[in-house]
Amino acid sequence: MAPPPQAQSHCPYCALQCGMSLTPLPDGRSSLPVEVAPRDFPTNKGGLCQKGWTSATLLSAPDRLTTPLLRGEGGELRPATWDEALDVVVAGVTRIQEAHGRDAVAVFGGGGLTNEKAYALGKFARTVLRTANIDYNGRFCMASAAAASNRAFGMDRGLPFPLADLGGADAILLLGSNVAETMPPSVQHLAGARSRGGLVVVDPRRSATVGLTGDAEVRAGVPTGAGPVGDQGVHLQPVPGTDLVVLLALLHVVVTEGLVDEEYVAARTTGFDDVRRSVAAWWPERAETVCGVPAERLRHVARLLAAASPSRGGAGAYLLTGRGVEQSSQGTATVTATINLALALGLPGRAGSGYGAITGQGNGQGGREHGQKADQLPGYRKIDDPAARAHVAAVWGVDPDTIPGPGMPAVKLLRSLGDTGSAARPRGLFVHGSNVVVSAPNADRVVAGLRALDLLVVCDVVPSETALLADVVLPVTQWAEEEGTMTSLEGRVIRRRRAVAAPGEVRSELWILAELARRLGSDVAFPTDAAVVFDELARASAGGVADYSGLSHARLDADEAAGGPGLFWPVPAPAPAPDELSARGERTDSRGADTSHPGTPRPFLDRFATVDGRARTIAVDHVGPSDDVRPDAPIYLVTGRVLQHYQSGAQTHRVSELERIVPDAFVELHPVLGVRLGIDEGERVRLTSRRGHVEAVARWSDRIRPDTVFMPFHWSGAGSVNRVTTDATDPVSGMPEFKVCAVDVRPVGSE
Ligand code: SF4
Repeated sequence: MAPPPQAQSHCPYCALQCGMSLTPLPDGRSSLPVEVAPRDFPTNKGGLCQKGWTSATLLSAPDRLTTPLLRGEGGELRPATWDEALDVVVAGVTRIQEAHGRDAVAVFGGGGLTNEKAYALGKFARTVLRTANIDYNGRFCMASAAAASNRAFGMDRGLPFPLADLGGADAILLLGSNVAETMPPSVQHLAGARSRGGLVVVDPRRSATVGLTGDAEVRAGVPTGAGPVGDQGVHLQPVPGTDLVVLLALLHVVVTEGLVDEEYVAARTTGFDDVRRSVAAWWPERAETVCGVPAERLRHVARLLAAASPSRGGAGAYLLTGRGVEQSSQGTATVTATINLALALGLPGRAGSGYGAITGQGNGQGGREHGQKADQLPGYRKIDDPAARAHVAAVWGVDPDTIPGPGMPAVKLLRSLGDTGSAARPRGLFVHGSNVVVSAPNADRVVAGLRALDLLVVCDVVPSETALLADVVLPVTQWAEEEGTMTSLEGRVIRRRRAVAAPGEVRSELWILAELARRLGSDVAFPTDAAVVFDELARASAGGVADYSGLSHARLDADEAAGGPGLFWPVPAPAPAPDELSARGERTDSRGADTSHPGTPRPFLDRFATVDGRARTIAVDHVGPSDDVRPDAPIYLVTGRVLQHYQSGAQTHRVSELERIVPDAFVELHPVLGVRLGIDEGERVRLTSRRGHVEAVARWSDRIRPDTVFMPFHWSGAGSVNRVTTDATDPVSGMPEFKVCAVDVRPVGSE
């Protein structure tokens, strides 16, 4: 089928899902197969960042995988036919499962997969492999925010409001999120709060986003200053790992200064008296001794947020969390404290205000709704809920009892691979759309685990560091080569459209899973047309929290053609009348002909998605990071991103325009620390933690606290910072503590 002359689609990278027009270029006119241009879409409003502008380069990367690869007898990866490659996979899976049981083959998915692929992958794991062990890299990304939102609101939709709503707020509190570098077009939505002096950024590093506050301490370059705040906002620069203390202190001020929206709390929440008591001990002066943020700044911010609340006559306030506070061993507690503060101020479920988590990966939102999580089935249903199992089993045409129970969450799963003393460890692993060698914490341990496998199958578009360890590499389609849907950080379901043909022998994961199912003897149907897969996904989601049953590709296309920019879930289909059901011979609910539900941009306006409709506040307290500073590791390490690179860098390192700007890993440290440690600007330094060590060039910067170093995580090899990060996890969500650990820092050669 010839691709259309121009496709309206979205960026392949982050969850902002900026709108793009893709125009195929005739052979010879350009080295690129397609021309990218921004289009007006509510999240990007005509803007793109450098990654988006250069994204066409990904399609023709010089080392693009175009044929399956098999590990040869000499240890090298060699080209193979699809038949050869799939035969090896089928033989390996069969051998492993016969010898060690069904759970001995595991699946690791990705938050960049389309909704259709994520759904098909979960279905494949549960009905063909019948393994409990499937999870995905979103566990590294959103798990703690998702857990906190689920228990507070009964629903996790990253932003339960359109991003554009931020524009009307008086104040926005951004916790651990550097949107000016990770999703630059989104900064447009902060303009209203900035113009009213209401942008508050909590970050141990003076990031590009902090720069938007115009904070006086930024101009003075004072890392923990107590000076006047900026004309557009405030920077709070806590000691790494103490964000929770900042939040407890803010709530303490709100409670003790009578700023709680008591009417709202009484009408829309439960449990707040416990929370009120729990923050009594966190007066700002005490908090300052732990988190390092001046008490007066804490008071100022608490009052600023309260004044912005509609209950006190303000235009509204939003509290937003990002990975900086979520990727913590107390991540769920930290997000819970953020939600408690938001509820105390009467923000969630009120037009123009709220709490939200800023999803990072392209389909981090949809990827966690359709069944590739260890504990969930499609529709964001719990896998141990008998009614959910029965519903999904009916859609899949299987016995509910054959669907395995919850498996290991991502970090535990990866850790278990190298546990060679355990009979229960997985011996085979499928990896789809994830580069765990670079992106997982304690990466050397992950590599050892991958090497211990009997069978590693990797589906990818380029030979990532993980693919290079595989026994079988399967080349797959990418963004502009495929049809499907994504779900943006706001829960907006949008269409991904094909603009060009895939090269060589490349296939879609939908085809691969269908072929494997057939060859493994399954009689479960695996359609390969994304629109058909979506229809099945929609039926499977019906009645669930993330209900897509009123949607289809055709409806999304028609909505867009009429000027609508996607629909927000839940979008339930009206239940058909009983006589209609029986006329169709159907036993379960199904999509009706009337698909007129308008979607749900703001799901909490009337009630929360809990049983009683009220939000649950839960008392939490500060414990501290799992790997705190000590004499042999006296410096905090925090990790993050740079504008030009995305996640493990598997894609962006192959874009020369981006690679040229930031070609190598670096370690950012304050000049005061540099002098103290005898480390000059440009000198190579070694960071050593309990897990291992990493080396990179030092960059002096007064943007960072003098007790902390910063390193971006987009590189492999000697500069792969996740070789030193800890794989300790949050006990509630399984989120690893990427964002803080203790290291020794010294010049290379001085050890
Ligand atoms: Fe937009 Fe994110 Fe793509 Fe940049 S990477 S163009 S912010 S979707």
